[in-house]
Amino acid sequence: MKQAVLSSSGSRVNGEALKLQEGQRKAAAETFWPVVSAREKQTEDHERTLKAHKEVENPQKTMEVNGLMPLPDSYDYDLIVIGGGSGGLAAAKEAAKYEKKVMVLDFVTPTPQGNSWGLGGTCVNVGCIPKKLMHQAALLGQALQDSRKFGWQFTEEVKHNWMTMTESVQNYIGSLNWGYRVALRDKKVTYENAYGEFVGPHTIKATNKKGVEKLYTAEKFIIATGERPRYLGIPGDKEYCISSDDLFSLPYCPGRTLVVGASYVALECAGFLAGLGLDVTVMVRSILLRGFDQDMANRIGEYMKEHGVNFIREFVPIKVERVEEGTPGILKVTAKSTTGNQIIEVEYDTVLLAIGRDPCTRKIGLDKVGVNINEKTGKIPVNDEEQTNVPYIYAVGDILQDKLELTPVAIQAGRLLVRRLYAGATTKCDYLNVPTTVFTPLEYGACGYSEETAVEKFGEENIEVYHSHFWPLEWTVPSRDNNKCYAKIICNIQDNERVIGFHVLGPNAGEVTQGFAAAIKCGLTKEQLDSTVGIHPICAEVFTTLSVTKRSGRNTAVSGC
Ligand code: FAD
Ligand code: NAP
Repeated sequence: MKQAVLSSSGSRVNGEALKLQEGQRKAAAETFWPVVSAREKQTEDHERTLKAHKEVENPQKTMEVNGLMPLPDSYDYDLIVIGGGSGGLAAAKEAAKYEKKVMVLDFVTPTPQGNSWGLGGTCVNVGCIPKKLMHQAALLGQALQDSRKFGWQFTEEVKHNWMTMTESVQNYIGSLNWGYRVALRDKKVTYENAYGEFVGPHTIKATNKKGVEKLYTAEKFIIATGERPRYLGIPGDKEYCISSDDLFSLPYCPGRTLVVGASYVALECAGFLAGLGLDVTVMVRSILLRGFDQDMANRIGEYMKEHGVNFIREFVPIKVERVEEGTPGILKVTAKSTTGNQIIEVEYDTVLLAIGRDPCTRKIGLDKVGVNINEKTGKIPVNDEEQTNVPYIYAVGDILQDKLELTPVAIQAGRLLVRRLYAGATTKCDYLNVPTTVFTPLEYGACGYSEETAVEKFGEENIEVYHSHFWPLEWTVPSRDNNKCYAKIICNIQDNERVIGFHVLGPNAGEVTQGFAAAIKCGLTKEQLDSTVGIHPICAEVFTTLSVTKRSGRNTAVSGC
C-alpha cells in the first residue's frame, strides 16, 4: 500500500484530518521500528524502495491526492537528520539534549551482493569497528607465534576459522546497533528506518523498505548520508567483486584475495587478511597511501611485503570473469599496465575493490531544495559552520568537501554544530591537526604535516626532521622485525621548533598518537618533548629522546633498548 502522510501540528489542513494523520504517523512509526540488525539480503525490498522513489516524482501531486497541502510555516520537527551514522547520530542525540523535536532517517541501500546492516552507519557496521576487530584477530596470530619464545607450548595445529571470527564480530555489531536504537528511544529521538529525500522546501519524503512513503517537515535539516564504495565500471565488477561493505560479513573465507586500491581501506584489509594466513595480493594503480607522508607509506609497503603480501604495481583491472562457481569460486582478472600496454591475467578466489568511496548525495533531492554539490565529486561544500548554501540545511561527515573522512571528525562536527544551533555555543569544528591511524600490520599513526607538505609550505631549510628507529621490547625475545618501527617528528625552525608533524610506525600507533595529538594542539615544541621524562620500557619514549636529524644523514638503527 502506498501511503503519503504529511503530519504537521501546524499545517493548514482541517483538524480531523490532522488527528487521523498523527495517529497514522505514530502507528506507522511504530511498525517501522526495525527488526534487530541481523544482516539480511534485501535486494527485493531495495528494488521496491527504488521503484517507490521513481513513482513519486511529484510529491505535490501525492499530497494533493491525499487532500493535503504542504504549508511549512510550522514544522513536524525542529530538526531532521538524514543518515544515522557517526555524524548524524551524534547530532541527533545532542539536539535531543536541548529538548528539540528530532527525527533521524537511516536507510542502508544493499550492496550489489545484496548485503545491508543496522543502525549506526559505516564505522560501526562496515568500517572502523569490524576492521579493527579483524586487525586484532590478525595480531593475535602473530602473538601466538611470539608466545612460543615466551615459553608457551601448544601441540594442536593452530589455524584460523573465518566463520567463527565473522560471527563474533557481527554479534558485537548487532549489540551496537541495538544500543543505538535504545539510545535514540531513551532520548526521545524519532527514528525511522527509511530513505530520506528532499521533495520541497523544508520537506522530506521518507520511504521505508516496503516502499511506504511519508512526508515530514522540519525547520532545519542535517545531511549526514556518508559514502559508499566505488566500483571500477569494468565488466564483471559488480557481479563478481566484493567491497569492504561485504567483506566483514562474508559467509565464507575469501581465500586467495586480490585487493584493488592502495589507500586506507585497501592496505588495512590486505593486512589483516594476510595476517589471518590468506594469500593476498594488492594491485596498486600508482602510489601507496596518497596524501600521507610517503616515507612512512613506503615503509608500510616494505613491511607488508616482508610479511607475505604480494604487490602488483602500476596495474589496473580491466575485466573480471568467473571461471569456477563456488563460495568463493575462482575469478580471472585481466589487468592493464598504467605505464605501458602490458596485459596480465591473474586468478584469485576473491577480488576486493577498495578504490575509494562516493558520497551519497546525488539521489537525495538536493536539486529540489537548491543545495549545491561539487558536480564532479558529489561532495557538499559548506562554510566553517557546516552550513550549505541553503541556510536551513547543514551537512556533516564524509560528504563534506575538503574535510577529513573520519568518524571522530563527523561526531565532533555534528555535536558542535548542534550546540551552535540550539545552545548558543560558538565553537567551530577544528579540522586541523586531526590525528589518524592506519591499521596496517605495522600500524601507522600521524598528526599534522607530512614531510612533503611541510617542505612545500615552509621550505626545506625551515624544517627540521628528527627521526629514529625503535625496537619494541616485546619483539626482542621473539627476535622479530628489528629496525622496522620508526618515529619521526617535523619541526618548524622559524617557530621555536614547534612540532608540526608527528609520525609513528609501530604497535599501538593509535594509542601513542592520540596523546601527542593533544600536545600538538597545545603547541608542543621540540624542547618541551626533550624535557619530558620518558616511560620505560615503552615504544613512545623514543619521542622524548629524538636527537638525530634527517639532514645529518646519521644512522638511526637500534640494537637494544
Ligand atoms: P556514515 O557513518 O557512513 O553514515 C551515513 C548513514 O546514512 C548510513 O547509515 C547510510 O546508509 C545512511 N544514508 C545514506 N543515504 C541515506 C538517505 N538518503 N536516507 C537515509 N539514510 C541514508 N574512520 C575512523 O575514524 N577510523 C577508522 O578506523 C576507520 N576505518 C574505516 C574502515 C573502512 C573499511 C571504512 C569504509 C571507513 C572507515 N573509517 C574510519 C571512516 C568512517 O567510517 C567514516 O568517516 C564515518 O563513518 C563517516 O560518518 P558519516 O556520519 O559521515 O557517515
Ligand atoms: P581513498 O583514500 O580515496 O583511496 C582510494 C585508493 O584507490 C587509492 O589508492 C587510489 O589510487 C585507488 N584507486 C582509485 N581509483 C582506482 C581505479 N580506478 N583503479 C585502481 N585503483 C584506484 O579511499 P579509501 O581507502 O576507500 O578511504 C576512504 C576514506 O575512508 C579515507 O579518506 C579515510 O579518511 C577513511 N578511512 C579511514 C580509516 C582509518 O581511519 N583507519 C580506514 C579506512 C578508511 P590513486 O592513489 O592512484 O588515486
